[in-house]
Amino acid sequence: MAEALVIGSGPAGLMAAEALADGGLAVTVADSKPSFGRKFLMAGKSGLNLTMAEDTEAFLHKMHPSAPLAPMLRSFGPEDVQDFSRALGQEVFTGSSGRVFPLSMKASPLLRAWLNRLSSKGVRFETRWRWQGWEGRNTVIETPEGLRHLTPDVLVLALGGASWSRLGSDGAWVAHLQKIGARTLPFQPANMGFRVAWSAHMEKHFGRPLKPIALRAGPHSTTGECVISRRGLEGSAVYTVSRALREGAPLELDLAPGLDAAALAARLARPRGKASLNNHLRKAARLDPAKIALLREWSDRVPDDPAALAGRIKALPARLEGPRPLDEAISTAGGLSWDSLDENLMLREKAGVFCAGEMLDWEAPTGGYLISACLATGLWAGHHAAQWAQTHT
Ligand SMILES: Cc1cc2nc3c(=O)[nH]c(=O)nc-3n(C[C@H](O)[C@H](O)[C@H](O)COP(=O)(O)OP(=O)(O)OC[C@H]3O[C@@H](n4cnc5c(N)ncnc54)[C@H](O)[C@@H]3O)c2cc1C
Repeated sequence: MAEALVIGSGPAGLMAAEALADGGLAVTVADSKPSFGRKFLMAGKSGLNLTMAEDTEAFLHKMHPSAPLAPMLRSFGPEDVQDFSRALGQEVFTGSSGRVFPLSMKASPLLRAWLNRLSSKGVRFETRWRWQGWEGRNTVIETPEGLRHLTPDVLVLALGGASWSRLGSDGAWVAHLQKIGARTLPFQPANMGFRVAWSAHMEKHFGRPLKPIALRAGPHSTTGECVISRRGLEGSAVYTVSRALREGAPLELDLAPGLDAAALAARLARPRGKASLNNHLRKAARLDPAKIALLREWSDRVPDDPAALAGRIKALPARLEGPRPLDEAISTAGGLSWDSLDENLMLREKAGVFCAGEMLDWEAPTGGYLISACLATGLWAGHHAAQWAQTHT
């Protein structure tokens, strides 16, 4: 029986392992951490968003770049992700924004059921095994008992990106792949918050959500929610435009997305009487205290003229100081370049070695796009690795 070694126990690695086991190989999954799927479990802490209820072409449109991922997502798309969850006993539901979650909202029941299913297919698991590249033909693994030199028939690397390194994906694999001549692109934060040097006036608003709010950055715009934090501005709406911001586009906020500029100006032109400006903004423009504080924070002078004031509320220029550090990002851009892989996700520099998941050079917004693409690339790599083993061993 041909042997497969999968390194990395995130969604990409486990999906590859299952495809390899289904293909008739003896599979071992190894991870450097003492337990499996730590980032996947973390993703479930605030609601595991598995995928988006939209058709595959719309889904693909959100991936960057989309072309290399197209065959994988067309063969395992958002509908398949939902079926996959159901088959593991985790019924799903679709939230108002189209985001799909398991009913439990957590990752742990799904992961437990999945590991059981893999186990029943004969997959073996090893924890505290750290992949250290190659020595000649040998795959080198550091284990608590010392170094091991293995020669699996096929190897699948699903080592993750380079954020939240304490959960295992530390990006250290780059050096091993560069050593064999594979090309990598620098890691960059994706779906991250942005630093802001707040004045002391903002302190009482830390932790407050801004909702609804519309954000515009370059060609991208979104309406949703973000949070003022001690460190800056974060939350799903910021993540949605984070790629444009990272690439240098300025950010503009619309604090009153439900009203157009003319309607807002007409409301602001109503006689104010003895009301303070804050009260006037609260009543006439329906701005809550956090939005009013932000308007003041990012305006040298709040305009008196109703039309100018409405214009400022509808297009408030943000004063961001740059992205939060890579390690805090939800995901990472950059990683293993597509030109180092063939169409089956096999390394051009090393036959029989396949790669999948966030370690590849793609990025996508939050909304289940990340996990879905990790599952799709994991399945693709595992399936083609199994085929390769059949013809080469
Ligand atoms: C807070 C948070 C919330 C998130 N929420 C969502 C969400 O709701 N929806 C969504 O789609 N995405 C979400 N994500 C992103 C998603 O979790 C990741 O994109 C996904 O887990 C990546 O899967 P992967 O299999 O490629 O890598 P990972 O899940 O990162 O797994 C890689 C594994 O490889 C192991 N490894 C690395 N190097 C080595 C080595 N040298 N030797 C042995 N093992 C190694 C690591 O220990 C790790 O277990 C979230 C991420 C975070 C941080």
